[in-house]
Amino acid sequence: MLVDAPHLYGLSSAHLVERCGYFLEQQTAAAFEKMRAAAAQEGIAIGICSAFRDFDRQQLIWNAKASGTRALLNKDSQPVDINGKTAAQIVELILLWSALPGTSRHHWGTDLDIFDSHKVSTRDLQLIPQEYQLDGPCYHLSLWLAKNAQRFGFYLPFQQGLSGVSAEPWHLSYYPVSKHYVDAFDVDTLSEVLQGSAVLHKEQILLRLKELTQEYVFRVAPIPL
Ligand SMILES: [Zn+2]
Repeated sequence: MLVDAPHLYGLSSAHLVERCGYFLEQQTAAAFEKMRAAAAQEGIAIGICSAFRDFDRQQLIWNAKASGTRALLNKDSQPVDINGKTAAQIVELILLWSALPGTSRHHWGTDLDIFDSHKVSTRDLQLIPQEYQLDGPCYHLSLWLAKNAQRFGFYLPFQQGLSGVSAEPWHLSYYPVSKHYVDAFDVDTLSEVLQGSAVLHKEQILLRLKELTQEYVFRVAPIPL
């Protein structure tokens, strides 16, 4: 299948460069290096815990949850038994914590998850909002980002009340590039990609694809002016 703009759906890595074992879109990588150096001058060590992730990787995560081989959590982070759940209910539960393959901003290489690597190890990091709030190990990083990220072209697309995805104070986006990716994202192309994929419960997903795309791709915090 020939897909228009495959980098928008996690189907191409041609636009990426490697940084510390992670892959980022080229302009994003350059801006990130500048931001990381500026933070380091103020004693904050910005570590990456996730950057580019392709469609297949997202599909593995999705299918593991849909088949019950990976824990499915409710909104209070409690495990849920998938037995007796309908496809619609399972899709709804997975979407609480995981992106539908093809719709993750991590497919773009413009978005990455970061933490303060001086204060917490990747092993101990849970990626929960509390870690980025007062008394959390990444609190100073959060304050620093609030003051400085925009100067380097980064912002938080997932914010309480402003995005379909729950607040993720660790998820940064390089908006000079990602704003174009959002604009170019096409639900019909995504539909074709999913139809040709092995994503579990895709029939259920395809029925609701417009609504899901609206909520999880297009409804994000507005970019800074
Ligand atoms: Zn993320």
